[in-house]
Amino acid sequence: MTVSVLTITIAVLVLAVALFVFRAVPGVRAFFKFRGTRLVTCPETHEPEAVDVAAGEAALGAFYNEPTLRLNQCSRWPERENCGQDCLSQVEADPQNCLVWSIVAKWYEGKSCVFCRKPIGPLHRLDHAPALLGPDFKTSEWNSVSPEELPKIFSTHQPVCWNCHVTESFRRLHSGLVTDRPLEPKRTM
Ligand SMILES: [Zn+2]
Repeated sequence: MTVSVLTITIAVLVLAVALFVFRAVPGVRAFFKFRGTRLVTCPETHEPEAVDVAAGEAALGAFYNEPTLRLNQCSRWPERENCGQDCLSQVEADPQNCLVWSIVAKWYEGKSCVFCRKPIGPLHRLDHAPALLGPDFKTSEWNSVSPEELPKIFSTHQPVCWNCHVTESFRRLHSGLVTDRPLEPKRTM
């Protein structure tokens, strides 16, 4: 009798764990799918805006099989915090390609630094961020720019590698300390 009660308890526990894992998988998947800042075209202004989906809530919704997609942040907030969030249909239609990270990676793809001509290479989260050279000849890292400004900036700025960005920033900020030496002809013994 005790053995059968124990067997049933274990069976129920195993079933509960299996059910939890079965429901947790789509939840975790939804979390990774919807996290991160995205660029959408605002249905009201037809301008690019940066939005963040409430990824934790989307994960819980997927766990309970009640899909819920809601914005957590938008570059038009707090002024338009009560909008209908119609832009969410753009996120749902193509969650990957509207990620700011994907848009930036795509822009730098195949481009070379405007100063040293070295290829910028693929974006890596742990690497130093590449930079942009503006029409004012100032360089800035791409992630220091407001995401919603990026589409406009990409049409007026040029790619700069991180090393050249550091050099150029130093040159600009400490112009008195930098001397550009002309190349000396090679000496022969
Ligand atoms: Zn460079």
